[in-house]
This record gives sequence, structure tokens and C-alpha cells, in this order.
Amino acid sequence: AAPVAFMGGMSRAAQIGVIIKNGGALETLARVRSAALDKTGTLTRGNPEVRRVIPGTHSADELIALAAAAEQFSLHAFAQSIGQVAAERGLTLPEVTGADETATNGVRALLADGTEVRVGKITYIEEVAGPLEPAQLAPGETFVYVSHGSDLAGIIILADELRATAAGTVARLHELGVTDIAMLTGDNAATARAIAGTVGIDEVEAGCTPQTKVEHLAAMRNRPVLMVGDGVNDAPVLAAADVGIALGARGASAASESASAVITQDDIANVAYVIEISQRTVRIAL
Ligand code: ADP
Ligand code: MG
Repeated sequence: AAPVAFMGGMSRAAQIGVIIKNGGALETLARVRSAALDKTGTLTRGNPEVRRVIPGTHSADELIALAAAAEQFSLHAFAQSIGQVAAERGLTLPEVTGADETATNGVRALLADGTEVRVGKITYIEEVAGPLEPAQLAPGETFVYVSHGSDLAGIIILADELRATAAGTVARLHELGVTDIAMLTGDNAATARAIAGTVGIDEVEAGCTPQTKVEHLAAMRNRPVLMVGDGVNDAPVLAAADVGIALGARGASAASESASAVITQDDIANVAYVIEISQRTVRIAL
């Protein structure tokens, strides 16, 4: 292959804000037949808005204050939204003496009074609060559960806007020969299916951990396979893909080390553009 053409493709990609690390990644991109897309922050904008709360054992304000206290050390998109609501309401947060976060489940914090607060997936809260019913959600909404000790303090309903370019990008990927497209998300199945339906993705794997994202990717039929993600929880699957594309500043910092191509601008439309550029470049080089 002619390296001059490859450098042209890489510099054209750089013009739209895409940094391709090496010629091998460009060549692989041109041949990509499958794509796995993360949901939160990739197909959606990743700055969710708190829509409403369903109080459990605690009032709405107590619930928000507890959740915001536990989330204050987290970089997750939900953490910022919950913290903002607590600030808007002028709530005083309980004192936290220790906290830890898992990319899979959510966060937990130990309060100064010795009680534990958890914010995250329903299964994570069930570990301390016992079996729970999933809340009813409108399309585009998702939820986090909040526990205090063994009580279900309540549920926070968030809505994350779809990116304007998400559906168009999925359609364009099909035109470019990337016909096998799956969504891999850590979020719940109902939210994942609703978003997938809106953007035109049939294959959905919800409730994923960073490790099961890798397993689902490995099971994809057509090769090479592209992974597009933005989050800390996407780093292993970005590394496992034939080409990994990390979206946005959050993705770049969390995943750029493992990704073979890094998108610096926060727009999923660039994924289709860069495949187009790679296909044209490889055609010229051959
Ligand atoms: P995706 O794989 O679609 O990008 P996320 O990275 O948002 O999904 O994580 C999936 C799920 O994990 C979230 O929907 C949420 O339930 C839970 N979760 C992860 N981190 C947090 C956190 N800091 N606070 C609350 N929930 C969290
Ligand atoms: Mg994400």
C-alpha cells in the first residue's frame, strides 16, 4: 500500500477532528463489517436531565441529597446531573467518610453516621434492599435506584437526549457496508430497546459489564469489528475490537490509550465520515 495516500486519509480525518493513530487502523476501518455501539454518551448526548423522582422511604429532597452526596466523587454523567439538582434546590449534603464506584453498578458511600448509601442499578440496590419492582419509564427515560442502609430511599428518573446525528449515522453505516450493528450498554433493557428502535438497531445487549461487552463483541459474526464508546466502562471493549473509536473528551481520556482510532470531537457522525475517508483512501492506495 502507498503510505502517501494513507497520510492523506489521516490528515483529512484530522480536519474533521479525528485522530487516527496509525495506517493499520485506517486500513482496518475500510474493511469493517460489524459495529458495536455503546448507548449512554455515544448514541445519546450523555448529559442526562433529572426528570422526576419516586420517593421511597425518604422525601424527594432527602433522596436527592443522599444521592448527590454519594455521587460527588463520580465522573459519571448521572453524577453531574444529580449534583446539579441538589445545588439548584439548595440542599445540604450529608457528610461522606468514604466512597467507592464500580463502572458496572454505580456508587456507594459511607456516611458520617455509619450508614451506607448506594446509587445505581436495580440489581445493586437489591443486594441491600431485597427484591424490587422496576419503575415504569417513558421512552428515552432511564432510572437509578437509591438505598439508605437496607431501605429503598427512592428512584431518580433521568432522560438522556438522543444525539441528532445518531439515526443518520446508523443508516450511513449500513450504506458503507457495516451491516451487522449491535448496541452494547450497561443500562437497563427497556431503555436500551427504546433507544435502539429509534435509531434503527435490532441487536441489543443490555445490563452489560465492561467484561460482558468484550464477550458480546467477540461473538459478533462479521469481521473486522468496530467498537464505538465514550466511557470508562468501554476501555476494555475498545481495546478488544479490531478498531476502537473513543468519542469526546470523556472517552478520549478514559479510552484513548486502548483505542486504535480516537475521535476528539464529540459527534457520532464522524464515525461514518471516517469510514468513508478510510474506504476512499484504501481504494487510492491499492
Ligand atoms: P453505557 O454502557 O450505556 O454507557 P453507563 O456507563 O451509563 O452505560 O452505565 C450503565 C449503568 O450503570 C447506568 O445506567 C447506571 O444504572 C449504572 N451506573 C454506573 N455508574 C453510575 C453512577 N455513578 N451513578 C449511578 N448509576 C451508575
Ligand atoms: Mg457510555
